[in-house]
Amino acid sequence: MSSRIPLAVPNIGDAERRLVAEAMASGFVSSVGPFVTQFEEEFAAYVGAKHAVACSTGTAALQVAHRVCGIEAGHEVACSDFTFIASANAAVYLGANLTLVDSGSDSWGMDTQLLRKELERRTATGEALPAIVELVHILGEPADAAGVRDLCEEYGMVLVEDAAEALGATWSGAPLAGKHVGTIGRVGCYSFNGNKIMTTGGGGMLVTDDDELAVHAKHLTTQARVPDRGYLHDEVGYNYRLTNVAAAIGLAQLRRMPEFVSSKREIAARYDAALVGTNFGLLPSRSGVEPTRWLYCVLVSPDHDGTTDRDDLLDFLSENGIESRALWRPLHDQPALAGTPVLGGRVGEDLFRRGLSIPCSTQLTGQEQDRVIECLLAWDSRHR
Ligand SMILES: *Cc1c(COP(=O)(O)O)cnc(C)c1O
Repeated sequence: MSSRIPLAVPNIGDAERRLVAEAMASGFVSSVGPFVTQFEEEFAAYVGAKHAVACSTGTAALQVAHRVCGIEAGHEVACSDFTFIASANAAVYLGANLTLVDSGSDSWGMDTQLLRKELERRTATGEALPAIVELVHILGEPADAAGVRDLCEEYGMVLVEDAAEALGATWSGAPLAGKHVGTIGRVGCYSFNGNKIMTTGGGGMLVTDDDELAVHAKHLTTQARVPDRGYLHDEVGYNYRLTNVAAAIGLAQLRRMPEFVSSKREIAARYDAALVGTNFGLLPSRSGVEPTRWLYCVLVSPDHDGTTDRDDLLDFLSENGIESRALWRPLHDQPALAGTPVLGGRVGEDLFRRGLSIPCSTQLTGQEQDRVIECLLAWDSRHR
């Protein structure tokens, strides 16, 4: 029996072990030490942002992002509906009211036109507008940051990007050519959780070009402590620092990002080619974007009666030793967020009913990928 093929696992090598050993030997294992600053500086350079602030998780980075952009209880945040719940939780922790925005079927990211129509409607009726639009770049795909940024400028809203799943993704076409996801809004956030394209075990990063916001963000992550002989805190902060050991892992992983991105893209290209002519739906490819293809997803086709066999495929893959996972239930359908208003919602529901992600670790071997493809083709031929 061949071994189980995991969905997406960390790729840890000698470089990570060396830097962790160095951090250990230095005695700086906690939240003080040189690797945190070095990680922040190299990260900012990698994505092309002026400042980067390391955080204990991506969710913490998002929470701090909303805080430094002025979100308080009762303010409104418009957020992507089809995403992992952490995107919304960060704003909810601060007492913000969410409005969820469905995906467009072309990119699976936030539907800019849906948001535009709502802003026009509210302007006409004199209703208040969201203070922040939180745009999520899901699955390694750049969302329509240019379109949403224009809306934010037009309507006086702040753009915050949740780029937790898309580190390394860029635009190649105007108007954002050469830019990294997460650097278009006032603040961008990333995650280094174990399943992301690079990991620190657990961690996150906030980036911004705004000097004051960067200082404020760092301040909030360090319990808002003001330099003083006594313990002086000028506002309610958080203990959201990244440890020096985690930053050592992060630094080694960051330096391997080009390797990780090209490996993800190669895996995706191989799946794309193998699945041509099958019934599986794939993430639409668009011009002007350079996705990382972080998590590879397929959509099963609806049956004649409109139901889908997504669970059947999940079971079939599992029986064959292949790990796969359903895509997210949209946020408007989450009990934790019951009653949250949503614009649209059908696209996300459809992606949830039909979508699943399949193995795409950067170390996935050709043979393993062949096994996955064989299973998919076998299942597809039985479901025609
Ligand atoms: C992983 C993830 C986060 C949160 O990151 P953590 O580091 O796990 O807290 C936020 N948003 C999205 C879309 C994610 O996938």
